[in-house]
Amino acid sequence: MIKLDISVALFLYLFFTVIVTFALWIWLERGSKFNTFKVGRENVWQCSVCSYVYTDTKNEDFSRCPRCRSINNKEVGGL
Ligand SMILES: [Zn+2]
Repeated sequence: MIKLDISVALFLYLFFTVIVTFALWIWLERGSKFNTFKVGRENVWQCSVCSYVYTDTKNEDFSRCPRCRSINNKEVGGL
């Protein structure tokens, strides 16, 4: 058994807790960027025909309006 002072043991315990917490935080934050759905400006569309504002999860150049089924261009219809 390695003899440790109580303050050294407490310091090591807190030190490794902080290290593990930061490592888990960075690891989970890196993975969550690909999974979470964020409503950005590129996901909000306004239909050029009926001016219906809707969100589309697909980040594409063309989007179909759910109300009038017309196809909107990103430069014209996307906000
Ligand atoms: Zn429409």
